[in-house]
Parts: sequence; structure tokens; C-alpha cells
Amino acid sequence: MPKELLVDKLANLSVKIGANVQENQVVVVNGSTESKEIVRKVVEEAYKAGAKKVITNWRDDYTSKYGIQYQTVETLTDIPEYLIDKFKYFVDKDACVISVVSPIPGLNKGLDPVKLQKAGIASSKALSFYREHMMGNRSQWTIIAASNPIWAKKIFPDLEEDEAVEKLWEAIFKASRVTEDNDPIKEWKEHNARLLKHNKILNDYQFESLHFKNDLGTDLTIQLVENHVWSGGQEKATSGVIFNPNIPTEENFTMPLKTGVNGKVVATKPLDYQGNLIEDFWLEFKDGKVVDYDAKENKKTLENLLNFDEGSRYLGEVALIAYDSPINNAGILFFNTLFDENASCHLALGRAYPMNIQGGTEMTKEELEKRGYNDSMSHSDFMFGSKDLDIVGTTKDGKKVQIFKNGNFVI
Ligand code: ZN
Ligand code: ZN
Repeated sequence: MPKELLVDKLANLSVKIGANVQENQVVVVNGSTESKEIVRKVVEEAYKAGAKKVITNWRDDYTSKYGIQYQTVETLTDIPEYLIDKFKYFVDKDACVISVVSPIPGLNKGLDPVKLQKAGIASSKALSFYREHMMGNRSQWTIIAASNPIWAKKIFPDLEEDEAVEKLWEAIFKASRVTEDNDPIKEWKEHNARLLKHNKILNDYQFESLHFKNDLGTDLTIQLVENHVWSGGQEKATSGVIFNPNIPTEENFTMPLKTGVNGKVVATKPLDYQGNLIEDFWLEFKDGKVVDYDAKENKKTLENLLNFDEGSRYLGEVALIAYDSPINNAGILFFNTLFDENASCHLALGRAYPMNIQGGTEMTKEELEKRGYNDSMSHSDFMFGSKDLDIVGTTKDGKKVQIFKNGNFVI
């Protein structure tokens, strides 16, 4: 089957299962100039699904890079009103959002990290209303990925460029459950049913805490918030429309108690942050806060991540993924969170998801914080799952339940 047909299938999947575009809805498509082909396809599919208006929000990482390189901090942190208005319009129109990501690893190498940080904070602040709208699932949203030469060569350095690009496409299709002879929509319905089953088992236990241990040195206890909700797979927007935020996704995740994390966690995959790779790192927590850390590569970048704001030293998410997952079994490091986070158990530093607490999407930030929700302008996932990871849950009446044995679910 020619690649174009698989691209069509993935574009169709992002519209039908990802955002689940509704008749007469406004749709925003965020697409990088690296992935023009599939972005155009997504736009067409969205119209075919009944969208009344599709707005393409192009981004070009190269010109963005020049912006950071040549503008002064003062200019960079002055977010123009028209840009804020654009996002206000998306919120007002209740637009759903489909993002096509195609990262260029290492592009920002050499840029002033302080400048990057300040620009990031200024734009996060100015657009916080939009982020809260989307993260609170007020409308449907989804993310898919597209191959590009630099990303592909990073993953397959020994292949010719064309070959590497094709190979990465293949890996993306496979991880997204799009194959030549399948019906991806049917497959995703079955996949969602499996994820929902694990959510239900974990929700019924309502564990007070989880204990993670492996031979690499991870020995970490995470208390969960009262009335937490395990999510994963499909979500329900405030409007009642079902959607799938990530394609691919393999995770069941919930909300840690902000001040209830203690011990050490050792990462098992590098973390790409602001275009730099943090490698071989560990974090030590005390009462929820990162109190010590180290990294063999890019420790300074890790420091930036931790110092982003008050909440970026605390956890906002704990996610369980079987070591025996399709993405991990592919044996590829994607250098991208959308994929790598689905290869292995992960934690996120920064903002928690309101949906991970019963009634959370209806609560104010203050109400959420009272219950142990961590607020931050950042949310950075890092992987720590391993072949020998054991997870034991403790229930409110002190009962211990083995959840993972040797990296995989046993409940
Ligand atoms: Zn996650
Ligand atoms: Zn996350």
C-alpha cells in the first residue's frame, strides 16, 4: 500500500477518533511546516466530517528559532494582543484542536537557555486561559505525529535520509495502530475498551499510595489524592463528546498528592526539554518536592526545568504502562514524549490534570489545590519504567496489592 494511503488513514483517525470532530464545529489544526502533507489531509478530513470552519495554525521551528536568537528578551516577552485574541477566538467558538507534531531534535542547541525560559514563561502566562480551557477538556483535542528528515536521522543515524524518513513513518503508523489492512477506528475502539478496564480496576481499589522499586535504584512512594480518578484512552469533553487526546496512547494515569512523594526515581529514557536532551538522570523527592538531582548530560537543562516555576519541582501525574507495550517492543527511542511516554511508566513534573480527581474539571484552582493538586505552567513527562519494575499498592485499610511484577500488570 502506498504511504499516502496510510497518511490518509492516520489523518482520518485523528479527526474521527482523536478529536471526534462534530457537525458544524470549528476546528483548529496546529501543524508544523515539516508536516505539510498530512496537515493538509487532516484539514480536508475535518471538513469531510462536517466541520464548518477549519483554521490552520502553522508553525515553523526554524523561524521561531531565529526569533529567540535575534530578539531581545524585552521584545520576546511582550506577547502581542492579536495573538491573545486569536486564542480567545478559539475558546469563544469552542473549537476542537488537532495538533500534528514533527519535532526537530537538537534544533535549539546553542540558544540562550535563559532567553528560551523567559520567552516560554511569558507566552505561557499570556495564554494560560487557553491552556486551562484545553487541559480541562472543555473541548476535544488530540495530537498525532509526522516524520521528518532530521527527526528520522536522529532515530536511525545509519540509514540514508529517505530510508530513515520512511522507517519513522512506519514506526508512527504502527504505534498509532494504523496498518495496511486494518480498520484503525475499529481497532481503537477495542484498545480504548482495554484501557478503560484497567482504569476501572484501579479506580475500584482507590489506593492510598503506590510503591515503585527496581534494581536501577528507583525506590519511590507516591501517595494519591483522595477520590482520584485513573484515566487513559478516551476522555469525555465538558460537552459530552468522547475523544482521544493522544495517538498513540497506552497509559493509565492519575494524580499524585502534591506533598506525598518520597524517595528516589531513576529515569530510564532521555528527556527532550526545550530542544535539549537530558540523559541518565535521577530525582530525589521529600514531601513531594525535588530536593536533589543529577544528570550525566545537560544537568543545566534539568535545572531549568525544575526551576521553571513553583510547581515544576512537584509531580502532577503518575502513569502506568506495561513494559511489554507495542512502542517499547518496537525497540526504538523516539526522542519524543508522545511516543516514549507510551513505552514505559512515567511521571510528570508540573501541572496535574483536573480530570484525575472526581469532579475536578468543575472545581476552581483553589479547590483543586486544597485536595493536593499541583499547579504549574509546565508539564514534563519522563520515563522510569523498566523490565524489573515492581509496583505495590496500599489500600486505605493497609492491604498490599501487587500491581506490577517485572514491568507488567498483574491485576
Ligand atoms: Zn502521561
Ligand atoms: Zn503527561
